[in-house]
Amino acid sequence: MRYSQALLPTLKETPAEAEVVSHRLMLRAGFMRKLTSGVYSYLPYGLAAIRKVENIVREEMNRAGAQELLMPMVQPADLWRETGRYEKYGPELLRFHDRHDRESCLGPTHEEVITDIIRKELHSYRDLPINLYQIQTKFRDEIRPRFGLMRGREFVMKDAYSFDVSDRDAEISYLKMFEAYKRIFTRCGLEFRAVQADSGAIGGNFSHEFMVLASTGEDTIVICQDCEYAANMEKAAVILEDEKITEVPAELEKIETVGKRKVAAVCDFLQIEPNQLVKTLVFLADGEPIAVLVRGDREVEEVKLKNLLGVAEVKMADDRQVFEATGVPTGYLGPVGLSLRIVADQEVAAMVNFYVGGNEKNYHMRNVNPGRDFQVENVADLRQITTSDPCPECGGRLELTEGIEVGHIFKLGTGYSESMQATFQDSDGVEKPFVMGCYGVGVSRVVAAAIEQNHDENGIIFPVPLAPYQVIVLNLGLKDEAISGMAEKLYRELQEKGVEVILDDRDERPGAKFKDADLLGIPFRVTVGKSFVGKGLVEVRERRTGEVEELRPEDVVEKLC
Ligand code: ATP
Ligand code: MG
Ligand code: MG
Ligand code: MG
Repeated sequence: MRYSQALLPTLKETPAEAEVVSHRLMLRAGFMRKLTSGVYSYLPYGLAAIRKVENIVREEMNRAGAQELLMPMVQPADLWRETGRYEKYGPELLRFHDRHDRESCLGPTHEEVITDIIRKELHSYRDLPINLYQIQTKFRDEIRPRFGLMRGREFVMKDAYSFDVSDRDAEISYLKMFEAYKRIFTRCGLEFRAVQADSGAIGGNFSHEFMVLASTGEDTIVICQDCEYAANMEKAAVILEDEKITEVPAELEKIETVGKRKVAAVCDFLQIEPNQLVKTLVFLADGEPIAVLVRGDREVEEVKLKNLLGVAEVKMADDRQVFEATGVPTGYLGPVGLSLRIVADQEVAAMVNFYVGGNEKNYHMRNVNPGRDFQVENVADLRQITTSDPCPECGGRLELTEGIEVGHIFKLGTGYSESMQATFQDSDGVEKPFVMGCYGVGVSRVVAAAIEQNHDENGIIFPVPLAPYQVIVLNLGLKDEAISGMAEKLYRELQEKGVEVILDDRDERPGAKFKDADLLGIPFRVTVGKSFVGKGLVEVRERRTGEVEELRPEDVVEKLC
């Protein structure tokens, strides 16, 4: 590419709207331009960086045995109604009517569409496992789009979905993705951690977020200094305190107490993540509001919570024996709570999440429907983990740090396949729902996260695998035949060797060319200028270290290939 012909509009001034360094540098280096809130046009340089990430993701997904497909962005509301998500997803889902007045939405994620494909195309255990992915533009009507590509409303995501015959196999698919994600983010040159995230109704450690460590991250993560434990703060264990509940969510007061019993409950769904809904029960204990979320509760007749360390007595609706009813404290919604795992006849029968106190914004209630009876004793307030608490796994020292969520893998289980009647015939002849997993990478966010981690006061310092060009050749003597001839020659030779190279052949002062080369973050700068005329030498400078070498032109190509 010749800079003189490229659409690569760099800015000297820092745009006022940009709060974080990656956003500032991406605007200044001509990556993208804003069309409207959270929606950007990717200009050639920015798109090239996004493509670099896409290619790494694609190679690693293919290596892990996944197949690429491409699903539509426009999705019919009726498909979303099958899983109940059309009503429940909330305002991040952009809904509209077409000219025939059919309700539609723009895909923020694709569980419904992929499950629809699979239920129509695959019918036998012989077809499984299968993992399908796409790299595509997503739309989420984020309440606060900000930080440029870090939280757009329109953004590029890789989303993959696995289908397996059993829980065990689904866990194998999950682990393959875990490994693929480690390779992806390592190859992108990022400093990252895989952290435990809330795995909701599934239980176990089957949800991980991949976090790029950066002070501008919107997530707080807990990392143990002495063992491998790392978790999203939302998931990290909470500590029991003796205080009573003081804050009462306003909506809870509207709920009637049922009967004379200690506890009244009302049913609803709560959206805890755009792609996650949970069945909830909201509890009043003797008129005092506490909030309780219950998943898989149809099978559970009664839960008697012994204490908030996670020990409970449970009676099932059928005659199954309860083997285990223990849980760990969690803090998911801001309020803190307790997640209880109920194992009956060797199967995880239910997850019961108790939330205490909390942020009223998170309670979203309709269909109020007086529920069932539970006994809750000694409900105390809980608080989230801090650095003065011991590590929940080894008792070691904890550290809190900020992270940017660049990837998220999740075992979904059979929630989607059951609600959409997506089944296959197993080897025993029985029709069973597919056991699913989903796996996302925020492709455009990865570019922003890479810049958060790799920059200095002069601009971006691209990790080589993400750099749109590995080399920039500066022609500092447009009117000098020898200099121009050599710059052109190096440009051609590097191109012939397959190096991605841009030739700065603009009619600009040397100072401006040096500044732009730094701003763009291209790993190697080759300068053909005065010392070529004087000594026959060309300067090669590494962006990251600032190291400079003067080389004979014939050695330059060799060094950079
Ligand atoms: P966040 O917590 O940041 O809102 P999320 O948990 O809602 O993200 P997922 O549903 O897990 O996102 O989507 C998979 C990946 O897509 C995320 O790990 C993230 O990297 C990326 N992503 C999500 N929302 C955005 C966004 N608004 N802009 C850019 N990337 C995003
Ligand atoms: Mg989100
Ligand atoms: Mg998240
Ligand atoms: Mg997520």
